[in-house]
Amino acid sequence: MYLLNMIRNRRTKKPKVAIVSLTSCEGCQFVMLDQGQRFLDWLKKTNLEEFRLVEDEPMTAKHYDICFIEGNPVTRDNIKLLKHLRKTSDLLVVVGNCAALGGVWEVKNYQSKQKTIKQVYKKLKVENPDIKEVNNFVKVDFTIPTCPIDGDEFMRIANNLIDGLDPKIPQNPVCYECQTSGYECLLLKGEICLGPITLAGCKAVCLKSKQACWGCRGLFDNAKVFNFMTHLLNNFPREQVYRVMEVFGAKDTIMAELAREQKIKIPIKK
Ligand code: SF4
Ligand code: SF4
Ligand code: SF4
Repeated sequence: MYLLNMIRNRRTKKPKVAIVSLTSCEGCQFVMLDQGQRFLDWLKKTNLEEFRLVEDEPMTAKHYDICFIEGNPVTRDNIKLLKHLRKTSDLLVVVGNCAALGGVWEVKNYQSKQKTIKQVYKKLKVENPDIKEVNNFVKVDFTIPTCPIDGDEFMRIANNLIDGLDPKIPQNPVCYECQTSGYECLLLKGEICLGPITLAGCKAVCLKSKQACWGCRGLFDNAKVFNFMTHLLNNFPREQVYRVMEVFGAKDTIMAELAREQKIKIPIKK
């Protein structure tokens, strides 16, 4: 309803939109551009105030109807910008795995942080905070997951937002799309695959290439995390299970869900 009210209240004029990246590879913004004509058609329905991939002019607008945030608030400047955008935006939508789950850089949280940073910055002293997804800093109104985002899903949700419809992502596991596409089950073959607890919507793209799901879309609502983790930990070495969960930043979310169920406690850090 937040969305419908926001859009209806401003029905007479095109919504002001910002597309902003924090620390990211900008791959999700490239997916938007890759949509070609249908992205341009969507843009025509908006007043695009910011699109950081294609311009670097200072941000001057005092208000946005919708702000799309790509990337992770790694630096102090990122956090400051994120908080500013939250204050100035009616609707804040996170785009992609980095913003939604922490992204590949969250791996650092589980390693020796000082050693890791020294491999890159041998002499410089740099800030080295834990990596945390956007919703640790500000309220998030909607999440468009995946690394990178799925173009069809992005266009559907982006159009819903502009048209005043409440966007929905069907709450199914990746297994559903995997099996309806006829792909071979890698879990049954002895590989760790997070498909049974991961939100569908990516068309099981990794399974299409015979690559197991590493959970980049996060959990779907009511995923049976305890049952599935019990299965994995009974059948695979713990460090292998953790390594897979860490690739796209899903581990802390999975552990938080386990803690919520209060059935088992597994330390998040090694
Ligand atoms: S989610 Fe993936 S593609 Fe998108 S910005 Fe992050 S690393 Fe890049
Ligand atoms: S391969 Fe993975 S996603 Fe596909 S059915 Fe098996 S567990 Fe599910
Ligand atoms: S199969 Fe899993 S890891 Fe691959 S894109 Fe889909 S959710 Fe992400």
